[in-house]
Amino acid sequence: MANYDKWSCLERARKLLTSADDDSLRYASLELRFCIEAIIYEKLDTYSRYVPAALFEKWQPNHALKMLLQFEPDADEDFTLYVSPESEPGKPTGNWTCLGQHNAVKLSWLNKNYNKLGSYLHVKLGNKNKGGTTEELSVNRKDIERMLSELEPVINSDIVGATLATRVQFKCQACQQLSLVNADVLRKTGRATCISQQCGAEYTASEDAEGGWQFKLAMTSFKCLKCEKINFLEIRHVDIGTKFRCNRCGEVHRIVGGQWNYERVTADRKTS
Ligand SMILES: [Zn+2]
Ligand SMILES: [Zn+2]
Repeated sequence: MANYDKWSCLERARKLLTSADDDSLRYASLELRFCIEAIIYEKLDTYSRYVPAALFEKWQPNHALKMLLQFEPDADEDFTLYVSPESEPGKPTGNWTCLGQHNAVKLSWLNKNYNKLGSYLHVKLGNKNKGGTTEELSVNRKDIERMLSELEPVINSDIVGATLATRVQFKCQACQQLSLVNADVLRKTGRATCISQQCGAEYTASEDAEGGWQFKLAMTSFKCLKCEKINFLEIRHVDIGTKFRCNRCGEVHRIVGGQWNYERVTADRKTS
């Protein structure tokens, strides 16, 4: 698991951006990515007591971010806590003291910009001007500067903490890992992912009349025909002709047919 200091990463990025040398843009992107990773892991730390350490330590940034999205709703409101002494109950004297500011960063912001920074790291292959054209570089530079200024208030926010109060647990059918998801997130997305990065099985979830949750594997399994490893594919991506690669031995397979299971919809419901 990454363990960076978000402040130093941001400072190094800032310093690199003062250089006119376009090569330093790549290094600035890298530092900002580390900074975002540090924010992600710091936020995830709150949830570490719900996740076995052995699993937690194996999470790569992309999976960590996915889990964070599963554990907390995408907060987008900044708030500042002020207190004031009262001359009589309910009448503040007006001498407000700022207790702290919380600059909530949208997880979707982290996700989008983390990936964007990643794209700035890659040298364009097959392009004579490998680092990009002057115009492209200047657009990238502006974008990286924007991210830096948007990240700054976030890393300086001093109220941290969230709880997984409305957590819903489910047992992964693929690997038996006990996983969890925030109920609000579940209501919003209807989806959950196994917390084990090695497994990563996806589920669709629906709430029943009693407030319980039903999880259905949104993936279908295919045994590799070469090494016999079980691979999972999201059902919505599966079709005749779809190719997939075994994630252990790399053997490429093509789907040539399938069998659908079905049930009567009306048989589930009680007639009244
Ligand atoms: Zn699993
Ligand atoms: Zn295989």
